[in-house]
Amino acid sequence: MATVATAATASTAATAATHSYERARPSRERKPITGDAVELHQLMACASPEAIEHLSSNALGVNAVDGRAPRTHECEVCGLAKMKQQISRRSTHEHPATQLFERVCFDLIELY
Ligand SMILES: [Zn+2]
Repeated sequence: MATVATAATASTAATAATHSYERARPSRERKPITGDAVELHQLMACASPEAIEHLSSNALGVNAVDGRAPRTHECEVCGLAKMKQQISRRSTHEHPATQLFERVCFDLIELY
C-alpha cells in the first residue's frame, strides 16, 4: 500500500513540474500596441492599408496609427507573396545539351 501512495505522489510531483499553475494574465492588461502604419503592416502579416486604418477603432489594445501602410507594390514582401508568375530572365542554360541524355539532372536524397 505504501508503494502505491509513493507512486501517486511521484506522479503528482511530475505533473506539477510539467504544468504551470500560475493564473493566466488576461489580455485586457496587456500593453497597447503602438507604432506607425509600416510597423503595424509588418506586424499584422502585410495587412492592407484599409485594414491598418481601421485597426485602432476595431481592435482592442491598438493605439491610433500614424502614417499610411504601404500598398502591394510598395512592400517587397507583399509583392513577392502576391506574385502570380515569375518570369525567368535567363536566355539559355549555362551548359546546354547538344544531344539526347547528354545532360541529366537528379536530386540526391540520403536515406537512413
Ligand atoms: Zn507587406
